[in-house]
Amino acid sequence: MTKTTILGERLSMNLSLSDDEIRFRDEVRALIDATFPPPERYDGGRDHERRWHKALLEKGWAGNKWPVEFGGPGWTPTQNFIWEREVTAAGLPPQVGGMGMGMLAPILFAYGSPEQQARFLPDILEDRVRWCQGYSEPGAGSDLASLRTRAVLQGDYYVVDGEKVWTSGAHRADWMFCLTRTSDEPKRQAGITFLLIDMRAPGVTIHPIISIDGRHMFNRVTLDGVRTPVGNRVGREGEGWTVAKGLLTHERTGQAFVSLSTDLSRRIREAGQAPAGSEGGADLLGDPGFSGRLAWAEIELQALAITELRTLSEVAAGGAPGAQSSTLKLKGTDIVQRMTEFFVECAGPYAAPWFPEASGAEPLDIGPSWARPEVVRYFEGRAASIAGGSDEVQRNIIAKHVLRL
Ligand SMILES: Cc1cc2nc3c(=O)[nH]c(=O)nc-3n(C[C@H](O)[C@H](O)[C@H](O)COP(=O)(O)OP(=O)(O)OC[C@H]3O[C@@H](n4cnc5c(N)ncnc54)[C@H](O)[C@@H]3O)c2cc1C
Repeated sequence: MTKTTILGERLSMNLSLSDDEIRFRDEVRALIDATFPPPERYDGGRDHERRWHKALLEKGWAGNKWPVEFGGPGWTPTQNFIWEREVTAAGLPPQVGGMGMGMLAPILFAYGSPEQQARFLPDILEDRVRWCQGYSEPGAGSDLASLRTRAVLQGDYYVVDGEKVWTSGAHRADWMFCLTRTSDEPKRQAGITFLLIDMRAPGVTIHPIISIDGRHMFNRVTLDGVRTPVGNRVGREGEGWTVAKGLLTHERTGQAFVSLSTDLSRRIREAGQAPAGSEGGADLLGDPGFSGRLAWAEIELQALAITELRTLSEVAAGGAPGAQSSTLKLKGTDIVQRMTEFFVECAGPYAAPWFPEASGAEPLDIGPSWARPEVVRYFEGRAASIAGGSDEVQRNIIAKHVLRL
């Protein structure tokens, strides 16, 4: 047994890695270096994503959190932790495959029929099919159970009519997992059914929503008499709420951002100690106010990392992530947002030029090279307090189901 730190030198957890785990960490590093030989860095573009995904598939690591029976490597929570830490530090995504991989797949493991598992999981693993999430509606966001999109069983098909909103990536998706109302019960949650809908089916119309920064990520999706076979229902009719909640806990567990915040903290310490005006940014670490706030955020990050590991251990032991996923999401969002604020402080006046997307002007190429991506991350990070359920809603869940107030 060899002692090592897995959150970096300043942010150490002093977990003991076994020799096997150290060999595993070295194997991960070797794969990263072989796929993107230094000094090449992953650029986030589609070509690099494909190259990374191909390497993961060849290694059998594409579905790294999947059970062995569905093509996953069967890693322990510690191995998953090491994986996330190493690939995030190298600027790589821990998974490729979007919402299908991280959100729908765990639901198909638990609630999908063998036919659904055989039909949909291989395409998710191989990243051949992209999924979007049709939960929110006008008037049904935090209060999701008030959704009104209606599905009526006619023979072997559900006929679906309604409207979804804030559907991220619907314009690039092949399929949507969707919550529909199949009956009006006194308890609203009881009349909800979870359906899979082909985005090319007649009656599906995608209306782009262009956000204030000029980008197209969101959509409104209208469903007019859309027919989807009964075989595309996940779980039983009227039991979609249980399926939907299960999916949300996986979504929220994936929003703890521990590896990302750890990497940001390491890089803030580099950026924050360089002389003002240099590539590194301002000398802020010498300021007790700044370094005190950063240290406090790092301490909270350590606590979050332990909470995440505990949750992942429970999942690995056969449990499902429960209401504690709201703690992970709430604190994870808070910490990653604070980390991005530190970067903006380090950038100082160089943070200002990075609004030009809204005006259509060319960004000015001044200031340290990290300023642009980190300031963009700062702005994008604000939305994390709403996506996947707002902070207030997470607090309500924690109060009710974790603290049992
Ligand atoms: C980046 C991003 C991506 C998204 N992607 C998707 C997607 O792909 N698919 C999808 O279906 N949805 C998506 N959403 C929508 C998201 O799930 C909703 O925006 C979210 O659930 C909040 O719902 P709402 O916008 O209707 O706000 P509302 O529910 O109207 O809430 C408005 C405000 O009231 C507060 N509030 C509401 N109820 C309570 C309460 N009971 N107690 C205390 N405060 C309360 C909220 O916290 C919030 O501040 C996305 C959102 C964002 C920001």
